[in-house]
Amino acid sequence: MKLDIIGGGPAGLYFAVLMKRADPAHDITIYERNGPDDTFGWGVVFSGKTLAHLRAADEASHQRITSAFAAWDNVDVAHHDQKITVRGNSFSGIGRLQLLKILQQRCTELGVQLNFKTEISDIDQLASKCDLLLGADGVNSTVREKYKQHFQPLLEARPNKYIWYGTHQLFHGLTLTFREHEGGVFAAHSYKFNESTSTFIVECDQQTWTGSDFAKMTDLDTREFLQQVFGKDLGDNSLLSNNSKWINFLNVKNEHWYYNNIVLLGDALHTAHFSIGSGTKLALEDAIALSQCFDRSADVPLALAEFERVRKPVIAEYQAAALESCIWFENARQYMNLSPLELAYVIMTRSGRVDAESLRRRDPAFVAAYEQELSHKGSAVGRSETEQRRPG
Ligand SMILES: Cc1cc2nc3c(=O)[nH]c(=O)nc-3n(C[C@H](O)[C@H](O)[C@H](O)COP(=O)(O)OP(=O)(O)OC[C@H]3O[C@@H](n4cnc5c(N)ncnc54)[C@H](O)[C@@H]3O)c2cc1C
Repeated sequence: MKLDIIGGGPAGLYFAVLMKRADPAHDITIYERNGPDDTFGWGVVFSGKTLAHLRAADEASHQRITSAFAAWDNVDVAHHDQKITVRGNSFSGIGRLQLLKILQQRCTELGVQLNFKTEISDIDQLASKCDLLLGADGVNSTVREKYKQHFQPLLEARPNKYIWYGTHQLFHGLTLTFREHEGGVFAAHSYKFNESTSTFIVECDQQTWTGSDFAKMTDLDTREFLQQVFGKDLGDNSLLSNNSKWINFLNVKNEHWYYNNIVLLGDALHTAHFSIGSGTKLALEDAIALSQCFDRSADVPLALAEFERVRKPVIAEYQAAALESCIWFENARQYMNLSPLELAYVIMTRSGRVDAESLRRRDPAFVAAYEQELSHKGSAVGRSETEQRRPG
């Protein structure tokens, strides 16, 4: 089969690895507009479950990815200068560039043709010369845009602003830090992804963003301002920019997932808010799901129809949980009067995927401390107030 892939991100690279592994006779080419060492952003997160899927799909890349990982089991919630630790959450972080290098190397070993610095604009021409064209070209997908009458995308920009930085301050665990500053409310999502660097994403609502006058600030002004806001959390470490810009999260869905021999994958197909840390995970698991459909049938229309049938409900469930989480952060301002323990509890249960009992299994000491605080406050009043303030 001749297979062309637009986009050398996690989705495109991993799909190429899996297809070439399944059948070395496949003729696979990836077109990537950037160079092999260019990347945006810092680190990405995987859960323990994702790692098990990666091991089953390709042991060689799994081994390299896990040996480059920073792993932890705690979510830390920092609020009112107090840090609450919730254990029993298995996560790992890896630098995005490191992940891409591992997948690029694996592609090369297997004989996938990698064409860097090659931007594709004539999609029709490419599609007419191959059996399968993969649109793995990211959140602003040209492939999706070109065939939008067929894919029928639903694009929704969420109201919060966020900006993706790095820092040499090491956050050992998935750390959510809340800071109130000059009438604004800021949340930072941070985690260590190698021995010397953490991802540090700052998110705020529109009111905070406008009130802080970020529109008029340079990159340096913005970092200095945020370093002040998170001064106690960053220690002496500064925020590191990688062409970092404030953006609104774009929720992407598509009514149809393929058109003729063209299929979308990864962020081009769907997004899930970064607060549940699953964009790269979904991209890699898409690649696994699609390659499994080709294991079952080499017939392109049949395999693509099967991919949409089996994968769409899984993605819908994730997107629903991610939206709950996204909305929670859009309303973070209204939770700032909670105590650190209450806030940590509400955050852990925000997406509806973790309930009180599963939280108790993960970290009984945390749930006991939370319940003890409630009973001190007068359990009936405290519980109902906290629950009323939980997102619906
Ligand atoms: C602030 C922020 C934080 C995030 N945090 C996490 C996290 O913690 N964990 C996580 O798992 N994910 C996270 N993500 C999401 C993650 O970065 C993406 O979901 C993931 O990279 C999707 O992979 P992809 O291969 O579909 O797309 P991408 O990684 O975007 O790759 C698409 C590639 O296509 C190339 N391309 C585009 N158009 C063309 C063209 N016409 N011709 C040639 N090449 C083209 C691009 O250069 C790019 O390399 C975060 C994202 C953001 C913005």
